[in-house]
Amino acid sequence: MFESFDEEARRCIFMARLAAITDKTKTIGLPQLVAGIRKERPELFRGVDWQKSAVKFARLSPENLRAASQAQTEVPLDAKSRRALAAAPELAKKSGAGQVTSAHLLAAILSADAKLRKQLKKAGLSKESKEVKSAGRQARNGPRTMISRSGIGYDLHRLVEKRKLMIGGIEVPFEKGSMGHSDGDVLCHAICDALLGAASMGDIGTHFPDTDEKWRGVSSLVFLRQVRQYLERKNWRIAHIDAVVIAERPKLGPHFPNMRAALAKSLSISTEQINLKAKTQEGIGEIGRGEAVAAHVIATIES
Ligand code: MG
Repeated sequence: MFESFDEEARRCIFMARLAAITDKTKTIGLPQLVAGIRKERPELFRGVDWQKSAVKFARLSPENLRAASQAQTEVPLDAKSRRALAAAPELAKKSGAGQVTSAHLLAAILSADAKLRKQLKKAGLSKESKEVKSAGRQARNGPRTMISRSGIGYDLHRLVEKRKLMIGGIEVPFEKGSMGHSDGDVLCHAICDALLGAASMGDIGTHFPDTDEKWRGVSSLVFLRQVRQYLERKNWRIAHIDAVVIAERPKLGPHFPNMRAALAKSLSISTEQINLKAKTQEGIGEIGRGEAVAAHVIATIES
């Protein structure tokens, strides 16, 4: 829900949760969201006379914040807050801004509840107010805040006879191949997990379960393409992928250019955005004995 929210707007929602804990409300309501915004962006409320408002706000004093931060309580958003947060991206879009800012959040809250709007207007705050409007303009003209996330992925596949060895989307000539429901491509699977992890979208098993006949024998590049689409739908771009593939044999280095090309094509990125490294296991353990291959991946995405 918050992918299009900038860091400040996200902090406002976090503060709203602390306000709800302080207020001992069971849900995060609109007044708590207003309290969160007030804490993070006080200048939006310049000139507001709170005495004239009947709305009760949490007092987010340092002591209250400390106590609330330590509480492990999960506080859900109430229906009105959920509606307001869902409407905020549309407001941001209309104003020409790339992301939802605290000003859009406040405007969405003021649109969500007529009674609250009236009370706040009495105190001197409206979505047409100078402060809210100028914050909206700033969001439109100012530099876009970049959000960057990283995810980790790991996979291991057993090496068996009568299977192809698929790594990084290509077939590596070898006497054994990796076992798996799909083509058993250890590197593609670890990349999928790293990307899904970075976007907080679960893991490969959730999206492509090995109990589904649809995925039997399928090229793992299909998973990569699908994951790339999931990320695109959430406005994430892949910034970089760094991987270590661990195999005792065969030598993987000479195949890296082809692997990078295949991976880059499926992910719609350039080969420069993919780095591959090969390691052996020095003869130790199942990988060292040539019984398995593994891969570790870190993926970085941006929005
Ligand atoms: Mg796997």
